[in-house]
Amino acid sequence: MNENRDEIIELIMYEVGKTKKDATGELDRTIEYIDQTFEEAKKIAENIIGPDVHGIKNKFGHFMRVAKGVGVSISPFNYPINLAMSKIIPALVMGNTVVYKPATNGSLLGAFVGQLTIDILPNGVFNTVTGRGSEIGDEIITNKEIDFVSFTGSTRIGQRILEICPSKDVVLELGGKDPAIILDNSDLNFVADNIISGGLSYSGQRCTAIKSIITTNEIADELAPIVIKKVEDLKVGSPLDDAFITPLVTEAAAKYVGTLIEDAKAKGGKVLTGDRIERNLVYPTIIDNVTRDMELFDEEPFGPLIPIIRVKDFDEAIEIANNSQYGLQASLFGKDEDELYKLAMKINTGSVNINSRSQRSPDIFPFIGIRNSGFGVQGIIDALYSTTRVKGIVVNKK
Ligand code: NAD
Repeated sequence: MNENRDEIIELIMYEVGKTKKDATGELDRTIEYIDQTFEEAKKIAENIIGPDVHGIKNKFGHFMRVAKGVGVSISPFNYPINLAMSKIIPALVMGNTVVYKPATNGSLLGAFVGQLTIDILPNGVFNTVTGRGSEIGDEIITNKEIDFVSFTGSTRIGQRILEICPSKDVVLELGGKDPAIILDNSDLNFVADNIISGGLSYSGQRCTAIKSIITTNEIADELAPIVIKKVEDLKVGSPLDDAFITPLVTEAAAKYVGTLIEDAKAKGGKVLTGDRIERNLVYPTIIDNVTRDMELFDEEPFGPLIPIIRVKDFDEAIEIANNSQYGLQASLFGKDEDELYKLAMKINTGSVNINSRSQRSPDIFPFIGIRNSGFGVQGIIDALYSTTRVKGIVVNKK
């Protein structure tokens, strides 16, 4: 990958509309992920793989970790190289073979990665299959040669995969509705910066993007103007001009964001800024007074649209986070770390970030989604374990 940096970066930019900086960041993070995976795999090999002998009542058990077999890796469009490699590399390193299906928007990159492996890996160890998921997905998932599946994408497709996969050996990383809960005495300028980078970078097309701001009336009144000022300063346009807000991956994605805006407006939501869509370019939009009857309250826009949800107190904020259909991450902002930690213990999401935007990195941390956000744990170490199983051979002596 290092030797093919320019091609990879260009493919990410042109296929999924990332800026050069973001595409370069994704590639560098991926290379680091691969190096760390090799390091962790060595530790697992030293500690666990290899026969573990227990002699009890003349029985000698050799229990070891072995590869599961043939794994399917299906990745989404938004991190076409990072989220593909975070499935493929752990599976290969632990001795599996892989069938990789990149997202439709990301298939050129997938094919390029496939090509890179031709001279490196023996035939059949790594296989890239491109095509629309709706057309070839079922065939891949239900193929009797497949032993396990690792999928990242939307909740709708993830649930279908879980339903039809014969082995039920599935890891799913799905959608999110990560709330940012803002407590009293927060540094609101710092919070607003986190909302911009957490909620709007790559135009909100991130599973761990901040997807709602939840706070009390007093804090919302003070925070909103700071956020609006920062949003209105963002450059909107082409990734080739290094804009911060760039076109969404498809026009259909932009249309969906539009329907969420219209629904919120019709039900009393107050647009503070944005509400402008030109083909697949959605201007960053903040809507205040978002209530439970609006789709935006608990749906994932996957675009630059953030609701402000006003609550009577922080118990209500936690109730909203815990009753969401999603349970990926949450972030809590405030001054008193002990209080924040206690609140974090009450929030039922995969992880809770204290005084930072929600995010997946560092990749060595476990990455967890509950409810409609996923099934199983990822992150470098868990991904390695999830591609192996424990096998035993028991030798009986007379
Ligand atoms: P998507 O579900 O539309 O597509 C994901 C992948 O599934 C693609 O490769 C697609 O071709 C394939 N696919 C589609 N239909 C299929 C079928 N019937 N069988 C098998 N595969 C099929 O998702 P997307 O639009 O590419 O990505 C956005 C979604 O992914 C968002 O919901 C986002 O939150 C989620 N996501 C989650 C994480 C996470 O780690 N939790 C990370 C990134 C993205």
